[in-house]
Amino acid sequence: MATEYWVYVNSSLKKAQLHKSKCSACRFGQALKRTSDVSVDWWEGPFNSRDSGWESTQTAATRVGGMASRCMMCRP
Ligand SMILES: [Zn+2]
Repeated sequence: MATEYWVYVNSSLKKAQLHKSKCSACRFGQALKRTSDVSVDWWEGPFNSRDSGWESTQTAATRVGGMASRCMMCRP
């Protein structure tokens, strides 16, 4: 299966982080959620290229007033 990219967004921590779908923190957008409130943190994706994923990470970061980053574990 091709690698897909997902963006984890947290509006209370003001961050957006890009992950690969196979990352243990991501698991295709199913893992890592800290709350059950989708207005606080959520996943966006999948994106089929790193470029479009990163672009969406930056867009999401701007929306929550924070910084875009890349996961240190999966290094997208
Ligand atoms: Zn990751």
